[in-house]
Amino acid sequence: MRLSQMLFVTLREDPAEAEIPSHKLLLRAGYIRRIGSGIYAYLPLMWRVLQKVSQIVREEMNATGAQECLLPQLQPSELWKESGRWDTYTKAEGIMFAFTDRQEREVALGPTHEEVITTIARDMIRSYRQLPLHLYQIQTKFRDEIRPRFGLMRGREFIMKDGYSFHPDEESLKKTYQDMYQAYSNMMRRSGLKFRPVEADSGAIGGSGSTEFMILAEAGEDEVLYTEDGKYSANGEKAVSLPPDAEPSPFTSYEKRETPNTPTIENLCKFLKCSATNVVKNVLYQVVYDNGITVLVLVSIRGDQDINEVKLNNELVRLASQYNAKTILSLTVPDTDAQKKWASKPLPLGYIAPDIADDYIQSTKDIAPKFLRLVDQTAVDLKNFVTGSNETDYHVVGANWGEQFQLPKLVVDVRKAKIGDRSLHDPNQTLQSARGIEAGHIFQLGTKYSKAMGATYTNEQGEELPLYMGCYGVGVSRLAQAAVEQSYDKDGIIWPVAIAPYHAIITVPNVSDAEQMQVAEKLYTELNQVGIETLLDDRNERAGVKFKDADLVGIPYRIVTGRSLKEGKVEVVERATRKSQELPLDQVSPTLKEWIQSALK
Ligand code: ATP
Ligand code: MG
Repeated sequence: MRLSQMLFVTLREDPAEAEIPSHKLLLRAGYIRRIGSGIYAYLPLMWRVLQKVSQIVREEMNATGAQECLLPQLQPSELWKESGRWDTYTKAEGIMFAFTDRQEREVALGPTHEEVITTIARDMIRSYRQLPLHLYQIQTKFRDEIRPRFGLMRGREFIMKDGYSFHPDEESLKKTYQDMYQAYSNMMRRSGLKFRPVEADSGAIGGSGSTEFMILAEAGEDEVLYTEDGKYSANGEKAVSLPPDAEPSPFTSYEKRETPNTPTIENLCKFLKCSATNVVKNVLYQVVYDNGITVLVLVSIRGDQDINEVKLNNELVRLASQYNAKTILSLTVPDTDAQKKWASKPLPLGYIAPDIADDYIQSTKDIAPKFLRLVDQTAVDLKNFVTGSNETDYHVVGANWGEQFQLPKLVVDVRKAKIGDRSLHDPNQTLQSARGIEAGHIFQLGTKYSKAMGATYTNEQGEELPLYMGCYGVGVSRLAQAAVEQSYDKDGIIWPVAIAPYHAIITVPNVSDAEQMQVAEKLYTELNQVGIETLLDDRNERAGVKFKDADLVGIPYRIVTGRSLKEGKVEVVERATRKSQELPLDQVSPTLKEWIQSALK
């Protein structure tokens, strides 16, 4: 492609709309254009990158025996009602774009395709002989994200590879899951990325596990906790660890103490001269279940520890049936306004005890009359602890479960693991922390969807059984941008060779020099002919502008038809290292070929 004929517009200044380097660079180098919130046009250079990523993904998927297909983006609500996800996706999470068509039918734009694929499996899979089966597609997904941001990282319209596998049993599912683990590792490695597979939260479905593939970068939205020995790595949402030991309590007898202005643990510990590990803190949450019932939840946890709301959410989904509900619509810390809706009197916030009376709740048909009391394991183990007294400016010290306070029946692990905690597999290892961008997620679904939607098969003995399912997603557009986030310098993007839009760019410093142009044209034809994807910068621009643009756009190799032409040579510069060498004209193509091949290994 000749730059003189391309829609090629670069920006010198950082666009105001962009916060992170990769987003700025993709906008500045003319790869993407914002059309609306979370909506981007992929311009020709970007589209080439996306197609390269897609091709790597496709090759790795095909190698496992999975088959490519294309499913509809427009999805009828009936399917989502069958699986029980319509309300969650349109109301609770509200992530699905849903609307009514002219025939008054409810439809939605697919945020994911479990429902569609399960319908197909239900209709078409009859016998164990057809199993296992794995279908995938590469397609635009729609999600009305609460906070679309960082360009392609979190769009409302983005490209995903999603695959779904069907199995007669768990063993067969596990085999495909392992194959996917390998295929995903290959995809990331081949795309030239530094990545880490991590244990991930599978939500309340449980399942036998899921793995996320994290691209390591400071701008990552996820925290990855791992140990140096490489034996443990998990998403912060899911991570487990040993908490630090509690310090011995300085209190030996039970007493109520005046502790003015101590609603925070920090103030309280300063005032009482004790450690936060001596305190049981009681945190109030408000959960709304899908049947409209609001439950006030009180979580007691050791004072130095924080609550992992993903773990808490999962516990509360597990408890949903106690409230005749299936799932959760929202989980929040109730603010003053929210409290007004149910509190019969002002709450002693900051001084709440594990036994705060249920009569603080003014119950209605939509509000459960009692607190749901949960205690984290870290608080269970404490002796002679400090906690609230249910009276502002007072705490109690030297308290014990089974004496002054009844231990809540529901003992849970809702603690946030953090950097520095000891690891469970080897307490000599401590957790380290890194930031990651989730590029892929593989998931053992089990029979959740097949049971809900009646997708069964007949086994060898003639019994009808639900299909086991797995699902596997890669954010193709997110991955492409994440590659930039991992690889750039002050002058621009440094694409990994495998996913660069072009391998090489020929920069002609002076287009009115006939010899420069003639050599450039010849190389341009020759390189493209041997499969070295080459751009020709034949614009009538100053050499400095062209060099700047080539750096910004990040093409791996630059060929300059400049001064060395006199000796029958051109300058070849590697973008990543800026290493430059002069090569005789007939050596350019074989040398680049060799470099590209070795970069693609
Ligand atoms: P996240 O936690 O980042 O919202 P998710 O858990 O919702 O991701 P999945 O439903 O597992 O993601 O989707 C599979 C992949 O699609 C993700 O691993 C990610 O790479 C990509 N993806 C998800 N949401 C977006 C988005 N809004 N924009 C771009 N890519 C996305
Ligand atoms: Mg999401």
